Amino acid sequence: MQGRWLEGRHALITGGGTGIGAACAAHLHAAGAKVSLLGRRLEPLEKVAAITEGKAISCDVTDRAAIEAAFNEARAAHGEIDYLIVNAGIADSAPFHKTAREDWDRVLAVNLTGAFDCAQAAIGDLLTGEDRRLIFIASVAGLRGTPYAAHYAASKHGLVGLMRSLAKEYARKSLTVNAICPGFVDTPMTDQSVARIQEKTGRSEEEGRAAIEALNANGRLVHPDAIATQVLTLCLPQSRDTNGAAIVIDGGSDA
Ligand code: NAD
Repeated sequence: MQGRWLEGRHALITGGGTGIGAACAAHLHAAGAKVSLLGRRLEPLEKVAAITEGKAISCDVTDRAAIEAAFNEARAAHGEIDYLIVNAGIADSAPFHKTAREDWDRVLAVNLTGAFDCAQAAIGDLLTGEDRRLIFIASVAGLRGTPYAAHYAASKHGLVGLMRSLAKEYARKSLTVNAICPGFVDTPMTDQSVARIQEKTGRSEEEGRAAIEALNANGRLVHPDAIATQVLTLCLPQSRDTNGAAIVIDGGSDA
């Protein structure tokens, strides 16, 4: 995408040190935005910050007080938040009858309650400026039943519900709220899924990866840049009428 449409605007990205979050940082920076990158580990955040002139801030999104402090640190560096990209997330898989209550709590705490807390920490900024954006990175698992990942799917369905509700609640404001729902993307999260398949089935890494690729209709993993390009598009002023959308990027489906 050509042009510095987002010149001087401030994008805060959670989980910004790896995968989709890092790709979003690169695309938004290339379009002129100042980026703040939040995550648990400072090292990957600082690597992305070095190539995006960004601000790396250590923050666990399951800690509401830490979120508030981190968002204030981001504001001190780059000003009011124009775009909040709620991307931090964790995946897990297990048959439902073997899913421990602790696993349910852990997945919901990061993927859903963390998103709620981040949205609340930024909402004052998002409702006061022009052309502000709240974008959730959900999943196709937020729109469809997902065997062996009921807790992950429930967290992502919750995220889509949160997005749709906020989009309607703030429809008359200069804020849009949308979600992107990827299929399997080529990121460290998918590497972990491949490793889980290897561990549980004894299959090789190549076989595990092929099994995951086959779950996307086009038989290949989505490139993280495809998600980042959509995030950038949503941030453009021209996207002001896209509100309440759950945008599927999964290589072909009827979702
Ligand atoms: P990833 O593992 O590279 O990124 C997830 C990021 O979230 C990491 O940087 C991680 O450090 C951060 N994170 C996790 N827990 C956190 C916490 N408590 N506090 C702060 N940061 C935390 O994988 P990704 O694929 O780039 O995932 C990004 C988002 O995309 C996630 O929400 C994921 O559910 C979603 N998603 C991924 C896929 C996929 O196939 N990879 C598919 C659909 C949706």
